[in-house]
Amino acid sequence: MYTVFAGGVGASRFLQGLYEAVDPAQITIISNTGDDVEMFGLHVSPDTDIVLYALAGAVNPETGWGLTGDTFAVVEQLQRFGYQRWFNLGDRDLAMAIHRTRLLHAGVPMHEIVAGLARDWGLACRVLPMSDEPVRTKIFGPEGEIDFQDYMVRLRTEVDVRSVAFAGAELARPAPGVIEALAQSSAIILAPSNPIVSIGPILAVPGIRDALGSSKAKRAAISPIIAGQVVKGPAAKMLQTLGYEVSAVGVAKMYTGLIDLMVIDEQDRALGPQVEALGMRCLVTDTMMTSADRKRELAAAVVAAL
Ligand code: GDP
Repeated sequence: MYTVFAGGVGASRFLQGLYEAVDPAQITIISNTGDDVEMFGLHVSPDTDIVLYALAGAVNPETGWGLTGDTFAVVEQLQRFGYQRWFNLGDRDLAMAIHRTRLLHAGVPMHEIVAGLARDWGLACRVLPMSDEPVRTKIFGPEGEIDFQDYMVRLRTEVDVRSVAFAGAELARPAPGVIEALAQSSAIILAPSNPIVSIGPILAVPGIRDALGSSKAKRAAISPIIAGQVVKGPAAKMLQTLGYEVSAVGVAKMYTGLIDLMVIDEQDRALGPQVEALGMRCLVTDTMMTSADRKRELAAAVVAAL
């Protein structure tokens, strides 16, 4: 069994490749719910939905999130009633939020909701939220604390991040199946996701970091940083303002003790010895997932190296 720690866009691209490279029934995904948000009274799980849509072949390939061909009539109409338009929730995307919210209000635990959604989208893999309990990523900038989606979407990451916290994490428990998956997997992969705000919240749920560290599985991470830059998103500037090295080595340092193999891009070949000096193997390969073939080839290379 393969277990993958997943954020949003970077993770979903890698998972599309893994889905092609191995038997999907052997894949368990642990999804970040730290950036879940209440919007218009609805519960939205951006990272989980990106992964579900991507694996169902329904994700908008231009944005990497949302549904292909979706429209935004509802959020536009809501402005008439004084709602702000900054959060782009598409009309068809709203159906997921309505369904999820209704089930949550009926007391259905998040892991059952996500399992049902994965079935409804026809997926053969297993998708688990990191926890049934709410954990919320908070960003502390010069003006104080803000919610993650406020930082990411409304303020377009134009905030100096001074620290990050995961509210509720200390009381959260791993969702049923998470610890078992980590114990029973032959391979665990940390997707090329933001290590601070996508993988960080998952590791902050008590028990998950220890289960990863002590798992007998072979464990790998793929660097989301290539040649000192991100493919998209705020990971690079976040690493920098928080005092981490903005490179594949910096990411490898954050995962030291948790992984056996660090996967870095061809462009970072020269960093291989520094990664290996941290006590892990290093696989150098093409990690830019620009086509279906490259996604599958990357996943196959990681699996083979593990
Ligand atoms: P988010 O929640 O949408 O920000 O998603 P993630 O945390 O999963 O992904 C964001 C990270 O994925 C960024 O740091 C990107 O650099 C990385 N990423 C996106 N596409 C690729 C790719 O093709 N290759 C690699 N190596 N990283 C990627």
